[in-house]
Amino acid sequence: MTLLPALQSPAGPAASREAVRFGTLSLTYGELAAASTALAARIADAGRVAVWATPTPETVIAVVAALRAGVPAVPLNPRTGESELAHILADSEPTAALAGPDDELPPALEKLRRVTVDARAAATSGAPEGSGAHGAGEAAGAGEAERTGEAAGVGEARPAAHDIGEADAEAPALIVYTSGTTGPPKGAVLPRRAVAASLDALEDAWGWTGDDVLVHALPLFHVHGLILGVLGPLRRGGSVRHLGKFSPEGVARELGSGGTMLFGVPTMYHRLAEVLDGPAADAERESLTRALRGARLLVSGSAALPVHDHERIAAASGRRVIERYGMTETLMNTGIRADGAPRPGTVGPPLAGVELRLAEDDGTVLDAPGAIGEIQVRGPNLFTGYLNRPDATAAAHTADGWFRTGDVGTVDADGYVTIVGRKATDLIKSGGYKIGAGEIENVLLAHPGVREAAVTGEEDPDLGERVVAWVVATDPGSPPSAEELADLVAAQLAPHKRPRTVRYLDALPRNDLGKIMKRSLRA
Ligand code: ATP
Ligand code: MG
Repeated sequence: MTLLPALQSPAGPAASREAVRFGTLSLTYGELAAASTALAARIADAGRVAVWATPTPETVIAVVAALRAGVPAVPLNPRTGESELAHILADSEPTAALAGPDDELPPALEKLRRVTVDARAAATSGAPEGSGAHGAGEAAGAGEAERTGEAAGVGEARPAAHDIGEADAEAPALIVYTSGTTGPPKGAVLPRRAVAASLDALEDAWGWTGDDVLVHALPLFHVHGLILGVLGPLRRGGSVRHLGKFSPEGVARELGSGGTMLFGVPTMYHRLAEVLDGPAADAERESLTRALRGARLLVSGSAALPVHDHERIAAASGRRVIERYGMTETLMNTGIRADGAPRPGTVGPPLAGVELRLAEDDGTVLDAPGAIGEIQVRGPNLFTGYLNRPDATAAAHTADGWFRTGDVGTVDADGYVTIVGRKATDLIKSGGYKIGAGEIENVLLAHPGVREAAVTGEEDPDLGERVVAWVVATDPGSPPSAEELADLVAAQLAPHKRPRTVRYLDALPRNDLGKIMKRSLRA
């Protein structure tokens, strides 16, 4: 099936359209197609390839080449610790490692055949106006096209690179490891069918077209940054501008000069909110406000966007951030539509093709309004299973074929889903009540003296579990008192949701996507 039709054999104006830009290095569709075709020939004999997924155009070329060659790609987080990396490599067994010319690979990867990807050699069109230096000149003539000759000369028995449209829809396209928030990361095997279905559902929800220019600052080894943020625009024939590293100035600059969409995680929107209504200089605030107003779509995902930050951005810029909810295993499940009502704190209705229901632990399906239960989903967006983990794959599905997300939520009368939190860490069973961590966190975060907040449950002899709040104060010298915070929650929500303990920290433990690691808070 054709996952990336715009890269099939781009010609004419379509070939000179910008596909990706990282800083001053830009690749057109023609260049990306040529570089990925050449690289595909060099990896056609690999069983699986590891991609050293730095936020660079090399990662894009590598992933597109793997799709072209029909070789499953395993994107690796370059900051993964030694033991987790060893686990992922032993589990996924890649035979080659794709990396940029300057990347230093850890010993665990040195045993693999190294295939160097050089984006500077692939870029021949010159930098966009005014963007300064460009790497094209330096490696001109030593580009991917020339190396293909070399690779072809090796005389592999395997056919040259597949046409990008050829591979079977159910064949694994990517093996993406989960974030490891709740346990060791598991490899989710994602077929082309799932990637295409999820991206097309987002096209339907957001009116996403080839004219969109996505401003991107996420890592490229997870679903959010790689599948939505790179394959999404490439499937549409649109463009990606990657900031390398997130900064509010970068967002203002790129959204202010042609960017139409921004995909981010909640910690990024928090930083934008800080510029919009914090102590930033007027000029900085004004340019960000102008840029956000000009954008077509601001999307948040990967974790819950605090209602407080949503409201700060709306108040300062008039723009509402829309949320979508997904997982490595399921790609995207729900999302607020571009033309829908954005309701802060909700993740919108199920996307086209996705079936969603709530269920109890014993399998009872809940459909009473306001019921809280585990979110289960079914649809063409789902993975085929965890790599080497038939036990975990079976445990994650119900007898009637629904995937258990492990997330708990509610669905309102209009079908809008609200995530209460993860079953394992965010659903607190206290005194016979089911209490969601998320709504308590939202109340705490609205207090001006609270910068960060997380809520967990702890064993309690009387209540079963008691509500514990972890707080990072805005001013660590004079934090709001535990009693004040507990009273606020009791008054705004309900007395049984009152935190029994408040603990103060300097920062919350977070992973690369800014997700709060409640596992380590609890430990
Ligand atoms: P692991 O499965 O290894 O413990 P993980 O679940 O964090 O890690 P991902 O697949 O990257 O790994 O993340 C999916 C999870 O992220 C979802 O199950 C959900 O808990 C959370 N999530 C994603 N989007 C949202 C959102 N918009 N609001 C709240 N939570 C979200
Ligand atoms: Mg998970």
